[in-house]
Amino acid sequence: MGKIIAICNQKGGVGKTTTTFNLAAALAAKKKEVLLVDLDPQANLTAYLGFEIGDVMITDLILEVIEQSMVTPLQVQQGIYCNVKYHIDYIPSDINLASAEMRMIPAFARESVLKRILLPEVVEKYDYVLVDCLPSLGILLINALVAADEMIVPVQSQKFAMDGLRSLMNLYQQIRSMVNPTLRMRGILPTMVNDRTTISREVMWQMGQQYEDVSFHTVIHNSVEAAKAAAAGNMIAVRTKLGAEYAALAEEIIQYDLSLIHI
Ligand code: ATP
Ligand code: MG
Repeated sequence: MGKIIAICNQKGGVGKTTTTFNLAAALAAKKKEVLLVDLDPQANLTAYLGFEIGDVMITDLILEVIEQSMVTPLQVQQGIYCNVKYHIDYIPSDINLASAEMRMIPAFARESVLKRILLPEVVEKYDYVLVDCLPSLGILLINALVAADEMIVPVQSQKFAMDGLRSLMNLYQQIRSMVNPTLRMRGILPTMVNDRTTISREVMWQMGQQYEDVSFHTVIHNSVEAAKAAAAGNMIAVRTKLGAEYAALAEEIIQYDLSLIHI
C-alpha cells in the first residue's frame, strides 16, 4: 500500500511545492509509482505539472464527498492525470478550492474528506502519494494530516524560519492524539541553505538542536537553478545540483522505508 506523505509548513514560500515536484521526479526516476495531490488553491504544482484542461479536480472530489459523504474509486480515477515526461500521476487543484474549503467548515466529519478521497483502491497502485499543502493551518492542512501516514516539513533556513514550527508540531500532536494516531513526523527538511551566511548557519544549528531526531541527513541548498526553473514555468531540477540533492532525499526515504520492512 502506498505511503501518503503530506509536505507541509504553514509558512509561505519555504519550498513545499518545489520539494513535492522534485522529490516526485526523483522517486519516479528510481522506478517508484508516484501520485501527487495539489491541495493548494494557488495551484502552483498543477501549473508546473503542465495541466491544461480536465473535468475533475481535487475541488470536485471534495465537494462530492461533502454532498454525498463519499466518492467511488472510479470518480477519483477520473481526477487523476499523468505528467508523461516525468512519469508522475497527479490530482490537480484550482482557485475554486478556496471556496470548497469554506464549504468544508460546516460539513459533517470535515477532517476526513481527503481520507475518503484517497481510497485504498486508489492508493494501492502507488508507492508514494505526496500531498502539496497550502500555507495555512486551516481545515485543508488538517485534512492532509488526517489522511497522511507521514509528514515532511520543508524549513527555509532563514530568519524567523523556526517561528511557526511550534504551532505546526502542536497541531501534529493534536491530530495524533485525537484522529490519526499512526501519523509520523518523517522529517524536517532544511531548504534554501546557504553555507556562507551566518543566519543560515545559525538556523541550521538551531534546527539541529531542537529537532535532531527528526532531521533528514539531506539538505537542500539555495540554488539559482530553482529560481530560474520556476521563472521558466518548469521547476524540475533533474540533472542539476538541486536535482542531485532531491535524488539524495529520495534515496534516503527509500532506504529508510526498506529498513522498516527488514525489522
Ligand atoms: P507556498 O507557501 O506559496 O505554497 P512553497 O512553500 O510551496 O510556497 P515554493 O513555491 O516551492 O514554496 O518556493 C518558493 C520560491 O522559492 C519559488 O520561487 C522557488 O523557485 C524558490 N525556491 C524553492 N526552492 C529553492 C531553492 N532550493 N533555492 C532557491 N530558490 C528556491
Ligand atoms: Mg506551494
